[in-house]
Amino acid sequence: MKEHEYSGHLHIHSSFSDGNASVEEIARHAASSGLTFIGITDHNTLEGLKKGLEGWHNGVLVFFGTEINVEKNHYIAFNIREKIPPDDENPQRVIDAVNARGGFGYLAHPVEKGNPFFLKGRFFAWDKWDVSGFTGLEIWNFGSLWRAAYNSKIRVLFWYFYDIYRAARFPDPEGLAIWDSLLQERPVVAFAGSDAHSFQGRLGPFKLSFFPYGFLFRTLNTHILLEEELSRDLPGAREQIFSSLRKGRFFIGSDYLHSTRGFRFSALNKDDDEVSMGQEIAYSPATVLRIVSPSPRGLIRVIKNGRVVYESREQILAFKVLKPGTFRVEVCWRPFLGRPLPWIFSNPIYVRY
Ligand SMILES: [Zn+2]
Ligand SMILES: [Zn+2]
Repeated sequence: MKEHEYSGHLHIHSSFSDGNASVEEIARHAASSGLTFIGITDHNTLEGLKKGLEGWHNGVLVFFGTEINVEKNHYIAFNIREKIPPDDENPQRVIDAVNARGGFGYLAHPVEKGNPFFLKGRFFAWDKWDVSGFTGLEIWNFGSLWRAAYNSKIRVLFWYFYDIYRAARFPDPEGLAIWDSLLQERPVVAFAGSDAHSFQGRLGPFKLSFFPYGFLFRTLNTHILLEEELSRDLPGAREQIFSSLRKGRFFIGSDYLHSTRGFRFSALNKDDDEVSMGQEIAYSPATVLRIVSPSPRGLIRVIKNGRVVYESREQILAFKVLKPGTFRVEVCWRPFLGRPLPWIFSNPIYVRY
């Protein structure tokens, strides 16, 4: 199966809300990071869309979603043209309003933890888990992990300058467990981003940008896979990207550790077509999963119904499916020293009777 891979970055704030750069500047950083697309998701506004900024800037396709709600239950919605009023207490109303307008969305940083040092302990997790109708959830968020990681100025500054990636190395296992348990019920798409704001700060006499966009765009990226090349016209390209995001035909890769370009996960039967992530395949005794790791330094884990069922250091793996289930793949990066680090998260393939 020939698939066209495009990498981009999602969950970004611009100066239309509390980010610190214009859409134009952010797109410039995305271009120099080699991205094809970015999804800007300002808090409770679609100002960028209203101003006609959707389209290509510096060769990067910019589209707009919005992050709805204020103190908790943040919901990232795409493919809506009008903003939707926040409702922190009843996020189901927000999800339903997005769906009614043809949009789709993800629970943002749903298991975020607080930290007395950051924002006086305020945090923005989900506290309503009886919701339905959402497309997926954010399993890896660079900014959110940082917000919880260090509880003093000294620690924050030390780790920021010594090893900025350390806080974000491991997605919260609680979020992954929730995703796996939701997957027992229905297809749920995993989503990731950086929550990029580029905070402005001071260090003595120096003005500094913390977590600049250009850095974050080399971390937790979204790699979508398309059957056709990305269209050069805006409605066509938007439809291709939104359709991949909605179905989960993409993977999440930490391009900070090593480029994740080239990862593939598909399933095939003897005579059938091959299917990709986000799709279903009918089980047969010939069903095989095909996994390609972008580097021999990867450690492939096949996860079925939330449990690791196979591990391999092969770069190309053919895994025979013995029984139907929901399959997803994690690839860890094996550093020269220390334990393997999360590197790639696939979206699932659903093998059904
Ligand atoms: Zn948020
Ligand atoms: Zn955000």
